[in-house]
Amino acid sequence: MSANKSLKTELCDYIDRHADEILEISHRIHANPELGLQEYFASGLLCERLAACGFEVRRGLAGLETSFRADYSSGKNGPRIAIIAEYDALPGVGHGCGHNIIAACAVGSAAALTQILPETGGSICVIGSPAEETVGGKINLLEAGVFDDCDYAMMVHPCAGEGVVGRGGLACCELVFEFFGKAAHSASEHTGVNALTALIGTFNNIAAIRPSFKPGQRLNGVIHNGGEASNIIPAYAKAGFCVRADTLAELKELNERVINCAKAAAFSVGAEMKVECGPLFAERYSNHRMDERYKENMELIGVPLHFPGPGETEGSSDIGNVSLKLPTVHEYTSVTKEKTNIHTTEFAGECGGEGGDEGCINGTKGLAMLACDLLCDERLRAEVNKEFERIGK
Ligand SMILES: [Zn+2]
Ligand SMILES: [Zn+2]
Repeated sequence: MSANKSLKTELCDYIDRHADEILEISHRIHANPELGLQEYFASGLLCERLAACGFEVRRGLAGLETSFRADYSSGKNGPRIAIIAEYDALPGVGHGCGHNIIAACAVGSAAALTQILPETGGSICVIGSPAEETVGGKINLLEAGVFDDCDYAMMVHPCAGEGVVGRGGLACCELVFEFFGKAAHSASEHTGVNALTALIGTFNNIAAIRPSFKPGQRLNGVIHNGGEASNIIPAYAKAGFCVRADTLAELKELNERVINCAKAAAFSVGAEMKVECGPLFAERYSNHRMDERYKENMELIGVPLHFPGPGETEGSSDIGNVSLKLPTVHEYTSVTKEKTNIHTTEFAGECGGEGGDEGCINGTKGLAMLACDLLCDERLRAEVNKEFERIGK
């Protein structure tokens, strides 16, 4: 680690000198929240900044207009490191997940790394991945081969409380069911087919199988459409379920069981059923060796981090799919000491305030220093690669 100490000092000094520009990216995206696949302002701003730093920018990859990849090579041999930017917001709460900070950390760390690449060799790229909160743009980018030539991937996400390294994530997808029956006057229900009864039967069947769920398997449903008026037998009903499990294999197994619940309920009342399965978000394998190095680096600059303790909850993200493809970390930078819930207006406020700025600069330094280690330290790379070989198998 000490061999890279002067390079890391150079990176952190660069980030401090350019803090205003990095924070301006965070603030401008925060002030212009855009929903997934509509992030034209954010992706435009990030591409403009990366181009100004000498990156070669390609936009609109994998059929996603707001995606991009920006490359910078030393022209010398060495690993290629992907730094991931997200920049989508949430309906009603703006940047309640703080993706403005993720974007600024990615661009700021990449800009800093251009200063040391002539010495370290290798190359870096920033991958702009849209719509993490909805369709999971990384899944499309992976399928289109955008990560194929990358050796390592990293990103940093804001959080409340102390920062965290090495948090996992559950596999996840959404199932949407539609039931088609036959409308009738409610005084003569026997002449119709009640689609809502099929939908409620689905919830009841799921309740019946819930005790047999494996640990990690979680399920929550909402009713999107349950009919129009109480004096009409509903001909149409619609519900959505968020399904989670420890692994993709277990997720697929649970999906089958949930679909059978809906089939059985529809069959029992004579309704038709249609199901749509959304993108499959994979479980997350955080590379422990990279996590450890990230944590050590942050301790060097006085930022404490911890590995998750038992019972700390895990969410789901398309970074899981990336972590199955190449060694990946998704670390967490603190924007507030308070235990604020994310996906709320309160957390959006923190991500646009002073705490958010501090978290943003810390995260930028963390990514830059970890990338520096991977570029310079062959032994670290060997350990990381060895660990990755065991993943998902
Ligand atoms: Zn989120
Ligand atoms: Zn998020």
